[in-house]
Amino acid sequence: MKFEDFKLRKEIMEGLEAMGYTEPTPIQEQTIPAILEKKDLIGCAQTGTGKTAAYLLPVLHHILEDGKKEGIDTLIIAPTRELTQQIDMQLQGLAYFTPVSSIAVYGGGDAVAWEKEKRALEMQTDMVVATPGKLLSYLNLGILKLDHLKHLVLDEADRMLDMGFYDDIVQILTFLPRVRQNLLFSATMPSDIRKLAKKILYHPVEVNIAPSKPAEGVLEAAYFIPPQKKIPLIRQLLQGKELQTVLMFTSTKRMASQLEKELKSIGLSAKAIHSDLTQPQRDEVLRQFRNRNIQLLVATDLLSRGIDIVGIDLVVNFNVPRDPEDYIHRVGRTARAKASGVAITLVEPEEKRYFSRIEHFLEKEIYKIPVPRDL
Ligand code: AMP
Repeated sequence: MKFEDFKLRKEIMEGLEAMGYTEPTPIQEQTIPAILEKKDLIGCAQTGTGKTAAYLLPVLHHILEDGKKEGIDTLIIAPTRELTQQIDMQLQGLAYFTPVSSIAVYGGGDAVAWEKEKRALEMQTDMVVATPGKLLSYLNLGILKLDHLKHLVLDEADRMLDMGFYDDIVQILTFLPRVRQNLLFSATMPSDIRKLAKKILYHPVEVNIAPSKPAEGVLEAAYFIPPQKKIPLIRQLLQGKELQTVLMFTSTKRMASQLEKELKSIGLSAKAIHSDLTQPQRDEVLRQFRNRNIQLLVATDLLSRGIDIVGIDLVVNFNVPRDPEDYIHRVGRTARAKASGVAITLVEPEEKRYFSRIEHFLEKEIYKIPVPRDL
């Protein structure tokens, strides 16, 4: 299938070309026609599948076809600031040749950011990408009005429920007109997501893209290794290698900060990102990583979903994630949309049972690399 087959507006086709997307991904093939027909949709797809463009493209097409209307047309709700920024960036790329405007609204900003967001919202915009808490405060203050909304998108709905946003979302719904197109995307479909979907969606089309499997093209491997040998192993793996971008996951903020220090002490350029950093600090770390000024980013699961940094060479799980879904999301940071990547998990003796659970969940055995003798 080709993008031409969707008969999208030419301004959008230009955006696609500029972004370098040559053919639709499977989720795009399946969702774009239904969304273009203005149907509600529930999409089960993990990040890295191209799901963001799967809803952005047809929604942009509608906005252009329908012509300039009063008020905000589209609201996209996502769990984290990073993801809202990420979605907005992709949107700005795809909408580059259109007059469609957008703004990302998220918590944690300072007074200047607040004033900026407020002014942008007052000036009107076509699309708003927001985290639930911040959005609700703007709605309650009457700064944001959604009376003319045509499209509602919930992205990474499972993550939002995990983070306790159910009540906020239900409250946000009370500010929306009853007739609108609703799109819900989630990496998993547990019963609370089904419940939310029932509340929001009207006769939805269901699209399911290979649930709960890491993106193809990721070479996964593991070392069974005692904790004290992990840093020496990392040193051996990374020193003198051409790897530009390495994303390392650990379970706690404290561990992330400690790892940053240890990695620096062995001469690697590393920075930690976690929820104790202020928003400007997090933005700065991500910017440096994107620009390849930092080789190694140490993150907690805050970053494991949705964050789109193109071309990560290697993902290292410094600890085994407890939840198999977290493993999939972490590993999904490499090999996004067809590129290939490597993901390595360091398994301590006490973590073996969590690792077996992941293998069981994935229904496959992950290749175990013997620990080098000289460590
Ligand atoms: P997502 O799953 O939406 O987070 O997208 C994953 C990555 O794939 C992002 O970097 C997108 O810019 C990229 N992408 C989305 N659709 C396509 C496409 N059709 N061709 C190539 N890359 C794409």
